[in-house]
Amino acid sequence: MSGARDGGVLERLAAVQERIERACTVVGRDPSEVALLPVSKTRSAAEIEPVVAAGYRSMGENRVQEVVAKAPDLPQVSWTLIGPLQSNKMTKVVQLVDQFQGLDSLDIAEGLHSRLETAGRELDVMVQVNTSGELTKSGLAPDEVVDFCQRLGEFTTLKPVGLMTIATNTPDQDEVARCFSQLAQLREELRQGRVANTEWPELSMGMSADLETAIAHGSTMVRIGRAIFGERD
Ligand SMILES: *Cc1c(COP(=O)(O)O)cnc(C)c1O
Repeated sequence: MSGARDGGVLERLAAVQERIERACTVVGRDPSEVALLPVSKTRSAAEIEPVVAAGYRSMGENRVQEVVAKAPDLPQVSWTLIGPLQSNKMTKVVQLVDQFQGLDSLDIAEGLHSRLETAGRELDVMVQVNTSGELTKSGLAPDEVVDFCQRLGEFTTLKPVGLMTIATNTPDQDEVARCFSQLAQLREELRQGRVANTEWPELSMGMSADLETAIAHGSTMVRIGRAIFGERD
């Protein structure tokens, strides 16, 4: 497909794939260890389709309403919710979402669990950690994470697969690196404590501006919006 027809999305997607490969090479990692989650928030189904056709079946969205709006037009897509979840949207999540990366509340965990039990299904979750310390950001404080993850074990329909964070929004890559290494360190604590009996395999960290730093610190999933779909309005 030509760049003109898809608005340049496939070219930008290829450039992101190259950035991931190069970042892996620099630190001696295998690129197959780093999944690319395209973040399709604010994009129409028509904008998302070329990325799906290129083989990306999971899309990240940060608002449940957008998943509700787009899901009928994109039945082949598996939706990952990467934003905070309000309690009045939990039923929709259970109906439409395959992975929720913003878990930071036991009330939400309990609400999801009871709906999932009724629906007879499970949900992959990542616990979101506020490594930046910015008050506007969601996520648990780092010192709350181990205890929270221990308590998640009660909610048997929730399958914890890892940790997620958003680094401080700054060009200072030392500060960004501090956020990512803190997430990796927390994952080690969870593994060593055998918390919730899982290996916490995923570290969801890295976005358009900082994916190289995230990969250098062990990211297994980068969430990329603007670098694929172009700047948001
Ligand atoms: C929007 C968003 C992204 C993608 O950010 P870009 O800068 O567009 O790559 C990643 N993670 C979360 C949680 C987001 O809300």
